[in-house]
Amino acid sequence: MINVTKTYLPNREKFNCYVDQIFESGWLTNNGRVLQELERQLAAYLGVEHLLLVSNGTLALQIAYKALGITGEVLTTPFSFVATTSSLVWENLTPVFVDIDPVSFNIDPDKLEAAITERTTAILPVHVFGNACEVEKIDELAQRRGLKVIYDAAHAFSVNRNGKSLLNYGDASVLSFHSTKIFHTIEGGAIIFKRKEDYEKACLMINFGISDYDKVDMLGINCKMNEFQAAMGLCVLSEMDDILEGRKRVWEKYRAYFARHGGVALQQLHPGFSDNYAYFPVVLKDEATLLAVKSELNSLNINPRRYFYPSLNTLGYLEATMPCPLSESLASRILCLPLYADLPAESQEMICSIISKHTTEA
Ligand SMILES: *Cc1c(COP(=O)(O)O)cnc(C)c1O
Repeated sequence: MINVTKTYLPNREKFNCYVDQIFESGWLTNNGRVLQELERQLAAYLGVEHLLLVSNGTLALQIAYKALGITGEVLTTPFSFVATTSSLVWENLTPVFVDIDPVSFNIDPDKLEAAITERTTAILPVHVFGNACEVEKIDELAQRRGLKVIYDAAHAFSVNRNGKSLLNYGDASVLSFHSTKIFHTIEGGAIIFKRKEDYEKACLMINFGISDYDKVDMLGINCKMNEFQAAMGLCVLSEMDDILEGRKRVWEKYRAYFARHGGVALQQLHPGFSDNYAYFPVVLKDEATLLAVKSELNSLNINPRRYFYPSLNTLGYLEATMPCPLSESLASRILCLPLYADLPAESQEMICSIISKHTTEA
């Protein structure tokens, strides 16, 4: 069975060493030593400050909204994983969908201003598939209109421009370290705050608002990362160069194949920013073609995924429906192909030739 991705498992001896340390210390969670080490190493690796580890990416988003005092309406993209929208609704915020730019697949910055109302307090763009948004434009608009910006950077681990992290834009950026992501801690996530005050507030929020023994400073919840998750993170991080290198090889092979054979549209990447080879999306000419490709691949035990479908503005639990024709069209035709370092070459060739067959038929 070949899936869209394969969870990266690091060297087991290394992981066992951390497990031994954790057993010796008897300290399993609550800002333990392994977690502190991971926070330090990640901040250095990513080139960021004020990085807070939490139990998953969805709660990272929710804590970011709370710490930044977001209320009312939030402008967001309809083309993302469902957590981008559900995290807002769960926090009683109203998502207002702004359609995408159909070549970058990211929120269209030129459509943001028209969607602002007096209830708008924030913008929640997503760097879809690790492709950097128009961050300067978005941050400038937000400053001018007094809005906060939270980037859902769940796909954008390690993306940078001239060595400067993409995660330094906005008031906060949120990462997911779920096992399906390129860097993972089994389940996990992080928030990178621009300001120290927001970071310090969030530190309390993730541990019930407790600031000291017998002292509760504010309303909080529990979304701490534990020592075993942090140990996995340290192991995976130490092998990150190999992970990126291995994915790059497969990614470039797809890119070269489709550049030569055509038949599908590819995401246009923001120039100047590095790639992290997290996903390989292809856009087919219509949904019927997508379904034909998918079913033929499925019959060979190959499982590409419809990332992202459905377009989030069409979710049944939303109170208002807002059409986003560009996102809906893209969502109906996009498929993410299997991508991981040890994807067998013959499987990759098979995937490519099946797609070519369906896209070059009359
Ligand atoms: C994975 C993902 C999330 C959620 O992260 P979890 O760690 O799974 O909770 C949020 N947004 C996007 C865009 C994602 O891909």
